[in-house]
Amino acid sequence: MTNYDYIILGAGASGLMLAYRMASDPFFDDKSILIIDKEKQKGNDRTWCFWEKGKGEWDDILTKTWSKIYFGSDTHKEVIDISPYQYKMIRSEDFYNSLQQKIESKINITFLNEEVVSFTEQKFNVQVITKNGNYIATKLFNSIHNAELYQFQKKYPVLQQHFVGWFVKTEEDILDDSMATFMDFTVPQNGNTRFMYVLPIDKKTALFEYTLFSKELLQLNEYEDAIGSYLKEKGVSSFEIIEKEKGSIPMTAFKFSHLNSKNILNIGTAGGWTKASTGYTFRNTTKKTKTLISFLKTENDLNKYHKKSKFWFYDLIFLDVLANNNEEGAKLFTSMFKKADVKTIFRFLDEESTLFEDFKIILSVPPKRFIQSFLKRLF
Ligand SMILES: Cc1cc2nc3c(=O)[nH]c(=O)nc-3n(C[C@H](O)[C@H](O)[C@H](O)COP(=O)(O)OP(=O)(O)OC[C@H]3O[C@@H](n4cnc5c(N)ncnc54)[C@H](O)[C@@H]3O)c2cc1C
Repeated sequence: MTNYDYIILGAGASGLMLAYRMASDPFFDDKSILIIDKEKQKGNDRTWCFWEKGKGEWDDILTKTWSKIYFGSDTHKEVIDISPYQYKMIRSEDFYNSLQQKIESKINITFLNEEVVSFTEQKFNVQVITKNGNYIATKLFNSIHNAELYQFQKKYPVLQQHFVGWFVKTEEDILDDSMATFMDFTVPQNGNTRFMYVLPIDKKTALFEYTLFSKELLQLNEYEDAIGSYLKEKGVSSFEIIEKEKGSIPMTAFKFSHLNSKNILNIGTAGGWTKASTGYTFRNTTKKTKTLISFLKTENDLNKYHKKSKFWFYDLIFLDVLANNNEEGAKLFTSMFKKADVKTIFRFLDEESTLFEDFKIILSVPPKRFIQSFLKRLF
């Protein structure tokens, strides 16, 4: 049994970012830190995008940035200049390599390539059991996501942002890489909220991702057929698929903070750091890991890290509407993009908007469903 000050379970976006921040701050130099992940090299297993104003912390490892995005539906099509924001893309391999390099330079941080079986809060510490051993932590940060903890409860709807993407390389220079297609709802909705998301890296290479916000996943061929049809419709006929990616990100207002305790903090998607109404997690993780580092310098009770926010309630209402009227997502997003300024939408989704800006967003969506959901939750 080996004792550590901190154990971080999972070396993905949140676990690695937290370890990186600890490695970069002398406060943690005399703390023993263990990171456990079942995978050592995950390669390019995901593509992270996020919007950000001006320069940002990860700018050195970005693959691409766009200052324009496209929103499309049957009733509204718009190329939107998002400056001073930029939509930024990071390939996960660049992120993992860059952060691991920094973390590996610290002698107080150990990486363990093992599968975690369980972790249990004890009187004064936390015990972690892996397939090969037992470890004790004074404080534990868990990013291993366990959907069983919330998928059977009935209080909060659970949707998924699920998608399959193809990285496509065309023969000719036919792609417009000056803008990212944020949401293209012109694809058949088939009773759900379905859209294409396109990230062109250059004139020959782009990620085409067929995405749904809904409860049930599809068969693989349904996503792939939809990508194929979209490419055909856009006149992309001679191409090679150079990579594929897929994912399913939970969208729920379930209170993840209730899983925390004095010595255990759930982080990343496992900690509710995924924006419930969009599935975006990366930028929030950048912000949360920063505030967590400051918190750890002054506080001992991890229960106190979570702060209540009005945005939780907004997300809850939004998800109620989307769960009960999944076929109306296109109409809802179209109305929002038509009536509200994109910068206000970004600030709202970043949970940085004022009450006045919140009202602008609330007034931009068709009111009927939202009022129904609001009243239902209230009473
Ligand atoms: C394909 C894909 C694309 C995405 N794109 C975006 C995007 O563009 N923008 C955005 O904001 N968000 C995006 N997300 C959502 C979110 O940012 C990512 O899921 C992000 O990686 C979440 O970070 P995390 O630390 O919570 O989990 P992860 O990054 O998944 O890390 C969890 C880690 O735990 C390890 N692990 C799991 N089980 C065990 C076990 N039993 N024992 C030991 N280790 C274990 C895994 O190997 C993994 O390394 C995307 C997600 C996916 C899947």
